[in-house]
Amino acid sequence: MVLAQLGGSISRAIQQMSNATIIDEKVLNECLNEITRALLQSDVQFKLVRDMQTNIKKIVNLDDLAAGHNKRKIIQQAIFNELCKMLDPGKPAFTPKKGKTSVVMFVGLQGKLCLHPHVGSGKTTTCTKYAYYHQKKGWKPALVCADTFRAGAFDQLKQNATKAKIPFYGSYMESDPVKIAVEGVERFKKENCDLIIVDTSGRHKQEAALFEEMRQVSEATKPDLVIFVMDSSIGQAAFDQAQAFKQSVAVGAVIVTKMDGHAKGGGALSAVAATKSPVIFIGTGEHMDEFEVFDVKPFVSRLLGMGDWSGFMDKIHEVVPMDQQPELLQKLSEGNFTLRIMYEQFQNILKMGPIGQVFSMLPGFSAELMPKGREKESQAKIKRYMTMMDSMTNEELDSSNPKLMNESRMMRIARGSGRHIREVMEMMEEYKRLAKIWSKMKGLKIPKKGEMSALSRNMNA
Ligand code: GDP
Repeated sequence: MVLAQLGGSISRAIQQMSNATIIDEKVLNECLNEITRALLQSDVQFKLVRDMQTNIKKIVNLDDLAAGHNKRKIIQQAIFNELCKMLDPGKPAFTPKKGKTSVVMFVGLQGKLCLHPHVGSGKTTTCTKYAYYHQKKGWKPALVCADTFRAGAFDQLKQNATKAKIPFYGSYMESDPVKIAVEGVERFKKENCDLIIVDTSGRHKQEAALFEEMRQVSEATKPDLVIFVMDSSIGQAAFDQAQAFKQSVAVGAVIVTKMDGHAKGGGALSAVAATKSPVIFIGTGEHMDEFEVFDVKPFVSRLLGMGDWSGFMDKIHEVVPMDQQPELLQKLSEGNFTLRIMYEQFQNILKMGPIGQVFSMLPGFSAELMPKGREKESQAKIKRYMTMMDSMTNEELDSSNPKLMNESRMMRIARGSGRHIREVMEMMEEYKRLAKIWSKMKGLKIPKKGEMSALSRNMNA
């Protein structure tokens, strides 16, 4: 996952600092320098990093730290807030309203500046994902291809749109993107579409003529929202490029694509600062539905290894059957993550179909247990674990004391399930890992639906 390395480095720096017996200015500076290095290595723009360092120093009061307050929490919270600030420009993006016509124009970089120069930023794919996302929610979207620059752009949009059963407009003959954009928007307005999406050519800031053309398309179609699409691998160039787009058209939101890759991803943070516009969605794969709404706080929590609790609670409501929810939450609030709970969660996961995406938010269930692209193997592993748990006694399943599982019990389970004891041990390790993460739920105030953000604050505090 993009930015994962950054999250790891920051957590390590905080951990190292809190190991020190006395936290003085020197120790704090070392920690901040470490974090600065990690941010720069992840391609976050230099000025942003420097500002962040200055802000944290201002916020973190060394006297508080010396007085024995929880140092790790204080610093972690300050970093959390600063990263959120970097990603949250403070004003929300324009949100189209269902049933009322909105025109949304997509702009973005040409492939050249991306990690793989022949592959685009994912703009055309993202247009369809955005349309498809809304269509599923009952909107009537339509796609207009005003990219006359790239050969094959119209074909690609046509193919995607047809697959998703979304009306589209474009031309093989016409070379004036302004004309196509205007015609397309007019047509779909007449057809009462409520979300008219205009895809434009990719370009970059050195191309004045292409920028002028983009400005003209914008002027002629008067979009309610301009979305800047950016590949997460863009690197240090992100800030300048994003700023150049913002200066030509009124960029109001950002979508970052390819968050499923291994890019450093700090450019994404920089683009938000450059455009002063929020990230509204992220692309997490090549498929139409690999597209997620982006929320700053859960994202930064996840990044810092604090767990995406609010996303997790939403998922509980979505995937755990209603009648099981109160009981599960009650057990978790008592700090009892038993093997039986793990078993029941595995059952839910298997029932849900494509597991990787849905559970990617669940603390601990994502990266390690279910690496992306290896869903089949993960599914087989889960089934194997469940077979072993079928050989456990009720006492074993309901105990939250891992010490209960001594060698002779594990031998018995291995024999009973026809597996090797090594596999039982591996499963117990997995259980311990999950139990440790989930123990944070202890003391949880059980929320009702709609009270998620309060909970997330609780968990992150
Ligand atoms: P454009 O030239 O900017 O319009 O880019 P395209 O939409 O043609 O996308 C370029 C490539 O990136 C295609 O192979 C897409 O399938 C791929 N792509 C787009 N979004 C994502 C994403 O979120 N994750 C991954 N892994 N690939 C993506």
